[in-house]
Amino acid sequence: MKPLVEMRRDLHQIPEVGFEEFKTQHYLLAAIEQVKQPYFEVETWRTGIILKIEGKNPTLKIGWRTDIDALAIAEETDLPFASKHEGYMHACGHDCHMTIALGLVADFAKEQPDETMIIYFQPAEESPGGAKPMLAYLKESRPELVPDYIFACHIAPEYPVGTVATRPGMLFANTSELFIDLKGQGGHAARPHLTKDMTVVAANLILQLQTIVSRNIDPLDSGVVTIGKMTSGVVQNIVAANARLEGTIRTMSAESMTLIKERITKLCKATEIAYDCEVTIDWGSGYYQVFNEEKSANALLRYASEVEGVTAYECDAAMTGEDFGFFLKELPGAMFWAGANTPYGLHDAKMSPDERLLPITTQFVAGFLRQFKGE
Ligand SMILES: [Zn+2]
Ligand SMILES: [Zn+2]
Repeated sequence: MKPLVEMRRDLHQIPEVGFEEFKTQHYLLAAIEQVKQPYFEVETWRTGIILKIEGKNPTLKIGWRTDIDALAIAEETDLPFASKHEGYMHACGHDCHMTIALGLVADFAKEQPDETMIIYFQPAEESPGGAKPMLAYLKESRPELVPDYIFACHIAPEYPVGTVATRPGMLFANTSELFIDLKGQGGHAARPHLTKDMTVVAANLILQLQTIVSRNIDPLDSGVVTIGKMTSGVVQNIVAANARLEGTIRTMSAESMTLIKERITKLCKATEIAYDCEVTIDWGSGYYQVFNEEKSANALLRYASEVEGVTAYECDAAMTGEDFGFFLKELPGAMFWAGANTPYGLHDAKMSPDERLLPITTQFVAGFLRQFKGE
């Protein structure tokens, strides 16, 4: 297997979006093949890979998950190893996550671990979500590949390299996309009485949506309803027959997500009656909260505080979303932020993680997984 930095740069050049990670899968399979041991079992699921590494004296199956997809963002880093796929970029650091997973594979190839390790190379984290269908497939068709515990990390631009930041309980929010289409009746701008103007209706609906967080959500809980885009009409002197709102919903509790969706549904129904139009809602893709099991998260923090070169940090929860939440909904385990020390945030076209994070995080995770006994 090549050095970590080289593999990361190789992967960085071939970013692919959800369920189209063909070159990526090929690269990963080839890298695994180079260090394959008799105690390795490799199989694929769609564009993903499941690698089971049988332990010497297993009492547990411990899972490690990496995501493998990229984003439709045109890279602006000017790096010599920038994306070769125009309009696509590993702007969320999943190239680093894959490299860390390959580093684990190499480590477990060098010395067979005591416990059984299962490494999941999961497609489509960004969209439309690979965790939920991958886990559903495992439970239904390959239950022996469902782990007892599962862990994962995500790079964090804002923390110094060597930081392991996590917390017991809620780490990332519940998320849902939101698309609302309004259909009325267009017509001459000077004869509004013969039309059903969807610009006016959409504007009203946007304001009503803003009452959900302020008037329906418990002030001690938290939620976000953001309409990031509104389109309507075709030209200045025609009443708009159609409008479309595009937004996102975030909540700290799963119950609040249900409540917000119920309120949106009711406001849309009321809009139909009040303005005599048709309103349809599409929830797009949504992710379940990343809720760290207490013992698993504390085990990460404890181990991080003992390893030289690594700093344990108990961070706050964030309103970001991650489909690893679907794994943690069904299995105990935890996720942590791995410091990547770059001024640009995730999903920024200039985001360029400090590659020193690769050996440090790989070593930390390998050590952690080898000593983890379920508490
Ligand atoms: Zn992302
Ligand atoms: Zn990500």
